[in-house]
Amino acid sequence: MSDTDDFQIVPLRAFKDNYIWTLRDRRHAVVVDPGDAQPVLDYLQHQRLDLCAILATHHHQDHVGGVARLLAHTAVPVYGPRGESIATLTHPVGEGDTIEIPKLGLHFSVLDIPGHTRGHIAYYGANSLFCGDTLFACGCGRLFEGTAQQMVDSLAKLTALPDATLVYSGHEYTLANIDFAKAVEPGNQELLTRAAIEAQKRRNQQPTLPSTIGSEKKTNPFLRCGQAEVIAAASAFLGAHAGDPEQVFAAIRQWKNQF
Ligand SMILES: [Zn+2]
Repeated sequence: MSDTDDFQIVPLRAFKDNYIWTLRDRRHAVVVDPGDAQPVLDYLQHQRLDLCAILATHHHQDHVGGVARLLAHTAVPVYGPRGESIATLTHPVGEGDTIEIPKLGLHFSVLDIPGHTRGHIAYYGANSLFCGDTLFACGCGRLFEGTAQQMVDSLAKLTALPDATLVYSGHEYTLANIDFAKAVEPGNQELLTRAAIEAQKRRNQQPTLPSTIGSEKKTNPFLRCGQAEVIAAASAFLGAHAGDPEQVFAAIRQWKNQF
């Protein structure tokens, strides 16, 4: 029996600023990127939920470190990037694959979004995007294994999704990202409005996520590399004219790393 009317997506906190997104109804749950098993086990027990699948976006320990212990409690399918070595995966997946979770009435498309890591993937379904450490609210992941061009292409793939898509990122980085975004685009009125809203959420100890693709397109400098103010800021950082969007992206990514 599926109680899809009661479907919710709940953030479980892990480590300093990770979110383990938990998709649930009255009986079943799926977790995305369980870097730590304990918050998941506590929640499942407290809410009397059965885990029915685990989704992983990339191989970093703060996203998959809890998988083995969860499997020791319940053997469930573990989906994750086929382009990365994660010992606990049972179902390696990539671009073009779909994932069915019948107990929750869910299905997801898998998108390849390399850049942060070489095989990073996202899951898109139920008007929601689980994008790990690739797209953050007002920011994007660091380029640990991929190139600037790969990340630009990956972000373009995500921004092609409908504006209303809910964006569930892997970390609560939003306020720090907004501080940087304001340095890049001090004249972006939408960004200044958003800054006040997100700061209020944090004062109330609420997550700033999910965001939406539409909001990110208006306020995230890494998605705005064709905007005159972003080009000017990137060029000022480089001390030379940044000519194309990939150069602009690479410049502001480097600037953010040292911000
Ligand atoms: Zn990561």
